[in-house]
Amino acid sequence: MRYLSTRGQAPPVTFSDVLLRGLAPDGGLYLPQQWPTFDISDLQKRSGSEPTYQFLAGEIIWPFVEDTFSRKELDDLIERAYATFTSQRIVPTKNFTENLWLAELFHGPTLAFKDIALQLVGQFFDHQLEKNSERITIVGATSGDTGSAAIEACRDRDAMDIIILHPHGKTSEVQRRQMTTVHASNVHNIAIEGNFDDCQNLVKAMFRDDEFNRAINMSAVNSINWARVMAQIVYYWWTAMQVAKTTQVSFCVPSGNFGNVFAGYGAHLTGLPVNKFIVASNTNDVLDRFFTTGRMEAQAVAPTLSPSMDIQISSNFERLLFETLDRDGAEVESKFENFRNEGFLAVDQSTLTQLKTKWASSRVNDEQTLKTIASIYEETGELIDPHTAVGIAAAKQNIEDPNIPIICLATAHPSKFPEAVHTATGIKPDLPPHLDNLHQREEVFSVLPNNLEDVKEFILGKARR
Ligand SMILES: *Cc1c(COP(=O)(O)O)cnc(C)c1O
Repeated sequence: MRYLSTRGQAPPVTFSDVLLRGLAPDGGLYLPQQWPTFDISDLQKRSGSEPTYQFLAGEIIWPFVEDTFSRKELDDLIERAYATFTSQRIVPTKNFTENLWLAELFHGPTLAFKDIALQLVGQFFDHQLEKNSERITIVGATSGDTGSAAIEACRDRDAMDIIILHPHGKTSEVQRRQMTTVHASNVHNIAIEGNFDDCQNLVKAMFRDDEFNRAINMSAVNSINWARVMAQIVYYWWTAMQVAKTTQVSFCVPSGNFGNVFAGYGAHLTGLPVNKFIVASNTNDVLDRFFTTGRMEAQAVAPTLSPSMDIQISSNFERLLFETLDRDGAEVESKFENFRNEGFLAVDQSTLTQLKTKWASSRVNDEQTLKTIASIYEETGELIDPHTAVGIAAAKQNIEDPNIPIICLATAHPSKFPEAVHTATGIKPDLPPHLDNLHQREEVFSVLPNNLEDVKEFILGKARR
């Protein structure tokens, strides 16, 4: 399989290049040249009477990576990636009311769905770097979930150092401690005296600085990396195969950067029958406005109870645009040029009508989020986190046909956002056993001013070269 760029100007490359590069040289995102296809009953047959997530992952991922790994290597990397999960089924599903199902994506080490892709991508990176006798320094900015998931995926690995910038005093207690209490010699946390945008700007400036960038062999594991999207395609097949043996399903996905729900669309393009994708936004509703009006326009980010969705520029949306415009890279480029220059991007009415046959959306505010956490607890005894609640509220607004199951993706464990859950239900959810002493663990991080030179000097001192 070769990969091409959504801007159409970059030469096709192998999976190994896509993995280690992230962004294409023409500024676009990578996608497979053709989507492989699978058949649900064939996968069911091959999975046998005791299907495992790991087996299915091997079947689905194989055609995407066959130019880079042997099947045996792939299967071993998958085994290792998911050995850290606390549920044997990796992504268990539950029917919680009428036709609504919950897919629990939070059984990985940091309690959010990002572990499912990052645990595997960490294994892929390590394997490829060792094969190429290469060493890299991963630098990233985080407002919460991505930082801890990336740290857990890269800790204790010889070929990588990882440096994560977070805004000092501005992440939640649980999120910060999940990063700062990891004591591994290749992990370094920097608390920047500034906000998340300052952290992000520092990282971008370091990427643009060629000399610095080369000196540390700088890399990223951000959500535009194709390997992350690819790893997420697996659980759409897995959950659909568990929930519906015969009918179509719909998926409802709490969305920010659009990586998760695009992976669902990727599953559909590889042959999974899906009725609708329901995109759930909080009050940062750029996606909901797009699917309603056909016009994408970013506004200022407003903080909400679901902070991992407080995003106004959904990077992975570019992949859907490319597919929707029949893979016309020049057209994608021209739309993004308009977005840069005029502040908005639009599709015509017939394109919007066509999109609406597969896509629905809703905007859910904090008050509705709390109400949903409370009502789900009353009805089912189940505690859900605020991101999952945004999704469930959106799913309930978009029930078209009660015979079609809607799988709601539960993207974080309730104990990761205990304040919102407590406000809604009066209950403080417990952290799972592997994290139950999180609040007693020693934190290690360095506080630095919002100054590029200071940050660069710190990183040069830590990165092993
Ligand atoms: C990252 C995240 C999201 C948003 O996912 P995208 O792939 O960026 O759309 C939703 N919920 C939680 C808990 C997250 O950590």
